[in-house]
Amino acid sequence: MAGMKQHDILIIGAGLAGLRAAFEGVTAGLNTAVVSKIHPLRSHSCAAQGGVNAAINPKDDWHHHAYDTVKGADFVGDQDSIDMMCAEAPQAVLDLDAMGCPFSREDDGTIAQRAFGGQNFPRTAYAADRTGHAMLHTLWEQAIKYGVHVYDEYFLMKITNAETPDGLRASGAVVMDIRTGELHQLGARAVCVATGGYGRMFASNTNAMTNTGDGIAHAMRAGAPAADLEFVQFHPTGLKSSGILISEGVRGEGAYLIGADGQRFMQKYAPNKLELASRDVVSRSMMTEINNGNGKDGGVFLDVRHLGKELILERLPQIRQLAIDFEGVDPIDQPIPVRPTCHYTMGGIRTDKLGHSIALKGLFAAGEAACVSVHGANRLGANSLLETIVFGKITGKDMVDFVKNREGHAPVKPTDALAEVSGHIAQLKARPEKGGVRQSEIRSTLTAEMQENCSVFRDEKRLKSALNAVEDAKEKLSRMYVDDKTDAFNTDVITAIELQNLVLMAEGTVRNALERKESRGAHAREDFPNRDDENWMTHITTHWDAKKGEITLGRDAVRTTGNPQYAPVERKY
Ligand SMILES: Cc1cc2nc3c(=O)[nH]c(=O)nc-3n(C[C@H](O)[C@H](O)[C@H](O)COP(=O)(O)OP(=O)(O)OC[C@H]3O[C@@H](n4cnc5c(N)ncnc54)[C@H](O)[C@@H]3O)c2cc1C
Repeated sequence: MAGMKQHDILIIGAGLAGLRAAFEGVTAGLNTAVVSKIHPLRSHSCAAQGGVNAAINPKDDWHHHAYDTVKGADFVGDQDSIDMMCAEAPQAVLDLDAMGCPFSREDDGTIAQRAFGGQNFPRTAYAADRTGHAMLHTLWEQAIKYGVHVYDEYFLMKITNAETPDGLRASGAVVMDIRTGELHQLGARAVCVATGGYGRMFASNTNAMTNTGDGIAHAMRAGAPAADLEFVQFHPTGLKSSGILISEGVRGEGAYLIGADGQRFMQKYAPNKLELASRDVVSRSMMTEINNGNGKDGGVFLDVRHLGKELILERLPQIRQLAIDFEGVDPIDQPIPVRPTCHYTMGGIRTDKLGHSIALKGLFAAGEAACVSVHGANRLGANSLLETIVFGKITGKDMVDFVKNREGHAPVKPTDALAEVSGHIAQLKARPEKGGVRQSEIRSTLTAEMQENCSVFRDEKRLKSALNAVEDAKEKLSRMYVDDKTDAFNTDVITAIELQNLVLMAEGTVRNALERKESRGAHAREDFPNRDDENWMTHITTHWDAKKGEITLGRDAVRTTGNPQYAPVERKY
């Protein structure tokens, strides 16, 4: 165990949101550190293919982008955050451009933009089909250039909080150096959670192995509630066998969906936008076709053949390679087998419009781990990369302001969290195999249950079955043992702790989903098929009650701006 290290700003997570926030801290002259359980360039942001939305074309207007987002969110997104995100989007993209991000270009040199789902204008800027990769490398260069302190391959074990005369506040974190197993306590004046999403709770997903919701789970335990956990996005086009993503950008380029009968079917469900309706609509349509017998082996097909070899090779090279490597088909001459796959988690740590937790002072959140709720019940494609760079920037600036001007009293009594965390690890390592459960068993049962009973279509019966599976997983976690008892690079311990976090996130997802008795956005309840604006124009918040050792639910109002154009209407595409 090592002593306490102190930073002004401590950011857990070094994907796009974390690095963008770090840029603000370090360039404001504050001692800024990021923690990442994998090398920052391996963060899931790197996998983003399709692009990032911004009304940069003079013929476009950010107000239209904002309306598309409010509607895409099925009217439970927070309107102040949405307006801010869309208004700031062009500058946020131009910031990246100025830092050297190699966006694809039109012949006249302007940043190229493609069409994405649920939007009235082709406003998605991109770097071929490797947009996240290009953006992440750009921000990583800036982190190196300005001297952000990087805890590379350090694993978050706990977010610490402390009493102050003004009440409880976040005070830092306990992290494990994965290389040695050594624990460190890091103190900070502002802590930001930017640990990404938790899509790994579903058996079929497009997410990195690392997307287990660690930061959100720890923030909840530290006293910061989450919200919107019931809203999970299923992307229409994961590769059928592996769930690997085929970007919506492919449909933006003109690809379409066909059933086993070889015919397009989206005109039945979204006569205007067809394949480019919003993701929840397209995913439900595909599942309906599959359930009605027009699928093949649980999937339908994405057809790009008519786009021609030249365009495929120039704009969609990675997609083609993924289809060849993981599905065994070359999209130049065969349609690609696809199915809806868990892609994005709209829920996260509930914050105000600048990314500050609504309940725990000094705790901030940005990116997929946050719920500033720009996505509400359903995220539009290419709004998430946007969220990371806009709210990375805004939250970074707010943390700087917090540290410089609003911090108030420092913690009176630093907690000795190191002892607690090392006790937790020792207990895990000490558990016997006899009478114990292996983590892989808990994980595979839970993720299969979540896929079966808490995915595209839900109802009370299925959700109760998912809740039983969560309860069962919780009981088994208390008997979970690890084979590896050593300290260095103990991935057995790390994945076991990730599983503890994932189970908490699954419990929140299922409890919220049972609570919301209506259908809205990505949350489709067959027993409550209609949207119920009278009762459910609200966020459900999810709290960890440490005393009782269970989750409790609350409500938080949707933040509205009074803009009459944002009044709820039926969502058609
Ligand atoms: C395959 C794929 C394609 C996508 N394509 C697009 C797209 O084209 N456009 C779009 O807008 N969105 C897209 N998305 C969504 C978007 O990429 C993500 O929502 C976004 O990049 C998340 O960024 P982030 O910075 O919040 O988190 P991430 O990039 O996920 O980074 C999380 C960071 O937290 C760290 N971390 C997590 N847990 C711990 C822990 N316990 N200890 C220490 N560190 C930890 C990780 O090491 C990592 O550095 C895509 C997502 C996927 C999965």
